[in-house]
Amino acid sequence: MSASEYVSTRGGVARVNFADAVMMGLADDGGLLLPAAIPDMRAQLASWRSLSYSDLAYAVMSPFVGDAIPAAALKDIICRSYATFATPAVVPVRRCGRVHIAELFHGPTLAFKDVALQFLGNVFEHLLTQRGGKLNILGATSGDTGSAAIHGVRGKAGVDIFIMFPDGRVSPLQERQMTTVPDANVHCIAIKGTFDDGQRVLKEVFNDLGFKRDYQLGAVNSVNWARVLAQVVYYFWSAFRVQEATGAATVQVSVPTGNFGDIFAGYIAVRMGAPIRRLVLATNENDILSRFFRSGEYSQGAVCPTLSPSMDIQVASNFERYLYYRVGENSDRVRELMAAFARDKKIVITDGGDSLFAAGRGDTAMTIETIRRYYAAEKYILDPHTAVGVAVAEQYLGDDAPMICLATAHPAKFSAAIEQALGSDLAKHPALEALKDLPVRRVLLEPDKRVIEDYVKATV
Ligand SMILES: *Cc1c(COP(=O)(O)O)cnc(C)c1O
Repeated sequence: MSASEYVSTRGGVARVNFADAVMMGLADDGGLLLPAAIPDMRAQLASWRSLSYSDLAYAVMSPFVGDAIPAAALKDIICRSYATFATPAVVPVRRCGRVHIAELFHGPTLAFKDVALQFLGNVFEHLLTQRGGKLNILGATSGDTGSAAIHGVRGKAGVDIFIMFPDGRVSPLQERQMTTVPDANVHCIAIKGTFDDGQRVLKEVFNDLGFKRDYQLGAVNSVNWARVLAQVVYYFWSAFRVQEATGAATVQVSVPTGNFGDIFAGYIAVRMGAPIRRLVLATNENDILSRFFRSGEYSQGAVCPTLSPSMDIQVASNFERYLYYRVGENSDRVRELMAAFARDKKIVITDGGDSLFAAGRGDTAMTIETIRRYYAAEKYILDPHTAVGVAVAEQYLGDDAPMICLATAHPAKFSAAIEQALGSDLAKHPALEALKDLPVRRVLLEPDKRVIEDYVKATV
């Protein structure tokens, strides 16, 4: 059993290496890919503490990459991925009142998705250069993921990216983060319709298997293993920084959660031996996951729009990975449970729970109150997603393990929420101000499979 061989949660895929796992994205049997073994790294922790972010990233990731990418190439990919961050620490960790904030938002689009997508873009480019071939990424976004994906692959050899977004329904700022990127391989498609229309067309195009094959269609959604892997690194990094600052033996980490990608990376870090005693899962009103960790019932509700839109998710795409471990790596059981969930929109796990996790919900009133309180006491502006994580984390303070709260976006990206909480939009960022003067490039198309396919054909 090796960490650099991958199996499907549903057991229907022959073992593949890291490169195939990345190119496959979703496993061919409909499941998700996971390493066949998780290495125990506790003996390495002492030597990992003094590493720079990039060197630590290499140490954490290389067992999972194996010989799919030569060591020197992997080091180079990692260095280039994190050189785009605005601070040499990559993820600075600062004390703020009774918690420690790990700022994951210093990448090009000021959101934590950059940590994974800057890496994934370089991995794609490397693999395509090695193997020959092309990749045309097609995605639909309502906000953050589209711009982080575009910034991950802009200017990369062998890759074109097409991102659909609903015309007039993403914030002007988020639209500008996509449409002002000048690289020739970036294609922004405003569609005349809603986000759901975009999702529908995306599915229809991916279901056109002939087109998918002939035009080397790929996705960059949150189930790609390379995205999870890149996120494992900052759990070690921030735990080490807070241990240095406090002398604590173990820490807790609070994670504002939507698709369960970020916190699942934390779970992998713990399994590898990271000194983390507890993972605090924080949701907004869309609380399917916090209800699950409190009661064992995983049941889908209706999506409710909140101030933290990147967490407005009811079915968490990475949850199946955790479920696989929770049921003892039994892929037959995973298949049964996922079929039951597809049928009944509800499953119940009655095994007494998982003491690693605590979970809670931070609603809109708590989000606003938390942003206000941290601004008043610390002069620190939390973005609304981070505020949900902080609000829930505060319920678990008080023992000897310090609390790290992952900060997933810069507050200037969510100025309407900041204005609602603080009375004016106090959060600014020069990179976002600069976007106002740049030329935009986009096409406006009907949300129709033929129209989108014709546009892709005409463009590549
Ligand atoms: C995507 C996102 C999240 C949720 O992360 P998951 O991996 O989906 O749980 C939280 N905050 C922000 C700002 C995000 O963009």
